[in-house]
Amino acid sequence: MKLDAPLITGEVALVGAGPGDACLLTLAAAKLIGDCDVIVYDALVSEDVLNLAAVGAELILAGKRGGRPSASQLDICETLIELANEGKRVVRLKGGDPFVFGRGGEEMRALATAGIRFRIIPGITAGVAAPAMAGIPVTDRSVNGSLAFLTGHEASEKSRMDWKALVEAFPVLVFYMGAKNLPQIAARLLDAGLAQQTPLAIIHAATLAEESTTIATLEQAANGSVSARSPSILIIGDVVSKRISWKD
Ligand code: SAH
Repeated sequence: MKLDAPLITGEVALVGAGPGDACLLTLAAAKLIGDCDVIVYDALVSEDVLNLAAVGAELILAGKRGGRPSASQLDICETLIELANEGKRVVRLKGGDPFVFGRGGEEMRALATAGIRFRIIPGITAGVAAPAMAGIPVTDRSVNGSLAFLTGHEASEKSRMDWKALVEAFPVLVFYMGAKNLPQIAARLLDAGLAQQTPLAIIHAATLAEESTTIATLEQAANGSVSARSPSILIIGDVVSKRISWKD
């Protein structure tokens, strides 16, 4: 099957919208966004990307964002199934990549269970794109042979993660959804044995007009002298010191 073939009646495409700037969409994503009947999109999908929708396409906001009340995951799956059963050609548009902290797996399983035809179009995930915008390589031969992607929710009080094992196994850590819990994340990493001077970057709104990068140490993040706004990617490890801020 050609990934960018036109959608057929009653088909759903789970499409990654990338980090924000529409020029970072895949060719397949751009084509399907411009040729479908309805787009069900998350709050993190940028205006820039939604502007590629065809005139007359229906746009439905389905996402949820940090604490704000919105559609439940169940409702989203039901909406997708209903639209497909009505014979619509549906694009389910998610920020970054649909399968990276995006619940794409749940939606895929719901579609499969309902017997709906679907396809998956990967996207550039924020955990890779945001460091790139800041000039930070997520792997660098002199620093790391592995990296971990995590959600910042892991740092909440009921964290069951083994933080010591984490920092021993992975020289570089990339946190999604970590803005609110930044001090807790930093404190846990210090407790787990990372040095106070370990460098950390906070990349906010990567590829968008309000993009900004803050460089700090774990100590500063733990004591609250730096803060992060959502959406931000946090990257921790010596790759941060390899940074060249190429956008300036
Ligand atoms: N599926 C998405 C991630 C969804 S979780 C992906 O693959 O990128 C939402 C989190 O993604 C946010 O809390 C933030 O950590 C990150 N994020 C998404 N877009 C971002 C952007 N433009 N800049 C920085 N972080 C972003």
